[in-house]
Amino acid sequence: MATTTIKEVVDFLETIAPSVYQESYDNCGLLTGNQKDIVQRILVTLDCTEAIIDEAIAKRCNLVVAHHPIIFGGLKKLTGQNYVERTIIKAIKNDIAIFAIHTNLDNVLQGVNKKIAEKIGLTNLRVLAPKKGTLMKLTTFVPLEAKEKVLQALHAAGAGSIGNYKNCSFQLVGEGTFQPTGNANPALGKIGRQETVQEVRIEVLFATPNKSHLIAALKKVHPYEEVAYYLHQLENENPEVGSGIIGELEKPMELLPFLTSLKTNMNTACIRYTQPLPLPIKRVAICGGSGSFLLPQAIAAKADVFVSADFKYHEFFNADGKIVVADIGHFESEQFTKDLLSVVLTEKFTTFATTFSTTNTNPISYL
Ligand SMILES: [Zn+2]
Repeated sequence: MATTTIKEVVDFLETIAPSVYQESYDNCGLLTGNQKDIVQRILVTLDCTEAIIDEAIAKRCNLVVAHHPIIFGGLKKLTGQNYVERTIIKAIKNDIAIFAIHTNLDNVLQGVNKKIAEKIGLTNLRVLAPKKGTLMKLTTFVPLEAKEKVLQALHAAGAGSIGNYKNCSFQLVGEGTFQPTGNANPALGKIGRQETVQEVRIEVLFATPNKSHLIAALKKVHPYEEVAYYLHQLENENPEVGSGIIGELEKPMELLPFLTSLKTNMNTACIRYTQPLPLPIKRVAICGGSGSFLLPQAIAAKADVFVSADFKYHEFFNADGKIVVADIGHFESEQFTKDLLSVVLTEKFTTFATTFSTTNTNPISYL
């Protein structure tokens, strides 16, 4: 029977939400467990607690995929003095691996916020605060006759896709010079002789997580023994990666009906919100989890309402008559992340079952 290792699951989740997209304070990735172990079953959860490890044991799951990393700050002792230490000890004693997919899943367009946007019924989704430093440029020099082959390989490896455009490149014909020496085995020219060759300079953009894949693809098809290329980290924002999402309702709604349907769709017991604006709600900004840091961007993007969580009393004042802040609760805003992960894992892997946890991990109750 075919088997799947934890590493194969980890590698797959890396394609869904690359770990380089996580925020600097975060701790995504495999937190406990051995990558070589065979996956029996996966338990998907928002939080990983002792109760979740008990559920994993009962359901014979040896991999827990959680949104929030149970190890977040430093962990200096493992003596069971608090819930974090007890959860880790229990997981290790029972050979249960824990994988966290946190702000990297927040920061991809198909991630946490997309799920909320679907629940609310938004269209025309864009990243609210695009992230810098996640795009690179590859420049390489190719003899004219190899141009098409190299370009095709680069595009097939994911380079040159920008928004709704694919196969983008810049090309410039020029002369390349070189002299093979010593034990060189040149594709063109002879040892000890200076060569001048018509070459094309090809430039393509790509997403940083694609780097090693792209370089491997380049080296595979480039005819030269020593492939000439350079990589540049770009300052440009990546419109497909970043915090929050913004989109529009199909039809404008008055605030109270909007909030009532938000309460139902997000299955929340309580929405805390700021003063209504004179106009109905059309444009909606979203940030699952603690999102008050994105309020300025939501206002700048002219959102009518910002749906998020974890606003403090004084932060509500910052709505300042420009937007309505609707705080729906941290757990409530992210609870459907389990469905998203469960769907992608079930579609991808058929050698084991993926199930989502039924334990309510929300530490907050409402009266
Ligand atoms: Zn969260």
